[in-house]
Amino acid sequence: MKQFQFYCLLLLLHACSGIEKESLVIGIQPYGQIDDRQVQAVADHIRMAFSAEVVVMEPRDLPIRAFIQVKSPRYRADLLLCDLKRIKPDSIEFLLGLTSSDMSTTKRNSDGTIKEPASKYADWGVFGLGYRPGPTCVVSTFRLKSDPAKFKDRLFKVCTHELGHNLGLKHCDSEGCVMQDAAETIKTIDRVDWEFCLTCKRQASLR
Ligand SMILES: [Zn+2]
Ligand SMILES: [Zn+2]
Repeated sequence: MKQFQFYCLLLLLHACSGIEKESLVIGIQPYGQIDDRQVQAVADHIRMAFSAEVVVMEPRDLPIRAFIQVKSPRYRADLLLCDLKRIKPDSIEFLLGLTSSDMSTTKRNSDGTIKEPASKYADWGVFGLGYRPGPTCVVSTFRLKSDPAKFKDRLFKVCTHELGHNLGLKHCDSEGCVMQDAAETIKTIDRVDWEFCLTCKRQASLR
């Protein structure tokens, strides 16, 4: 009988440990000359917004192969995602790159063709980009600086949005949800909240 009780106790302990969720670990990779205070502010925001453990990596130079000069000097966000994927330690679930340099990517239609006019969308400036779902995302402060009073608010929202894509979230039409499509204007970012709507929160199984 004693043996049975002991076995039950072991099962109970095992079941309890199964309920406990390990905390989500999100890394931040500062690229180039980005201000350390901005990096720390983003780290604090992510720690709170995702109830995550946040690891700030050593700053890293922007990879020269990602540099492009079509309309203006920029870095290809898609190539930065690959760079981040290559260096991401296994102990980190999602790695967010932060840069003060301008970034671009190619804007495509759902069938993979470049959105028209191609001269506009082949090298299209972006605030951020992230895999959906996937291990890495990247955010640039370059296009968020136009209004210093709104800068941090915008930065936090874009970081949350891109990490939301990493968690598998698509763009969301719910009023005020941080996963709304920016629709090519900073005004959308200024309009949305810092948070995911309840549906997005549930879909991302946020801990
Ligand atoms: Zn998006
Ligand atoms: Zn939503």
